[in-house]
Amino acid sequence: MIDWESLRAIVLDIEGTTCPVDFVTGSLFPYARQHLGALLSQADQQAPLKPLLEEVHNAWKQETAAEAPAYSDSQDPLALLPYLQWLIDQDRKLAPLKELQGLTWRHGYQSGALSTPLFADVAPALKQWHQRGLRLAVYSSGSVAAQQLFYGHTSDGDLSGLFERWYDTRLGPKKEAQSYTLLAADLQLPAGAVLFISDSSGELAAAQAAGLQICGSQRPGNPETLSAEWPVVVSSLEAMAPSRPPGLR
Ligand SMILES: [Mg+2]
Repeated sequence: MIDWESLRAIVLDIEGTTCPVDFVTGSLFPYARQHLGALLSQADQQAPLKPLLEEVHNAWKQETAAEAPAYSDSQDPLALLPYLQWLIDQDRKLAPLKELQGLTWRHGYQSGALSTPLFADVAPALKQWHQRGLRLAVYSSGSVAAQQLFYGHTSDGDLSGLFERWYDTRLGPKKEAQSYTLLAADLQLPAGAVLFISDSSGELAAAQAAGLQICGSQRPGNPETLSAEWPVVVSSLEAMAPSRPPGLR
């Protein structure tokens, strides 16, 4: 059961929670894969790219997977492309990769080539919670820049203003309890006043271990079927809340 009385903030995962997994794997990843080369070829004119490319270089140098493309110490930004594409194919959550992907998506969203297909219940639920004074935040493995683009260009318009905080894996891995402890501390709330919603049992377990309230999201196309071991599993965010949560207006 969700204790709405003590709840002050709701933190949401994205993929499999507010939008279909297929949008990420079938649209966003291929778009980034296709447009990364163009981004890298302009790297000389874009100073903010430099530290990201250095981070990727270091990660590649220390790569332990035998199947990874062989390391190249070339300073040509395009030399990183095979490794970056390999990381995308592995769905590796490397922070600088996520930021580079976010930069390609910015162009896609702005040109109208990309638009976020939120589940139909998401926008009404977010607006309702926001209106009731609940603080909203995102915790997703996509970079903060990508999250803001994602909610800034949805099938329900620009919803980015509803969120007060944005967290990505720079906070910490999503399957480690410590990340959720840091998250609650950053919100300046006791862990139990924060509800985390996700489709991943590993993430839910980590949040629960940190003392957060949790809610599982079961959506069509999700890779995992959440078992009854979780206290709350929903298929619609709008339907999860009692119509008038006690203590909230
Ligand atoms: Mg997810």
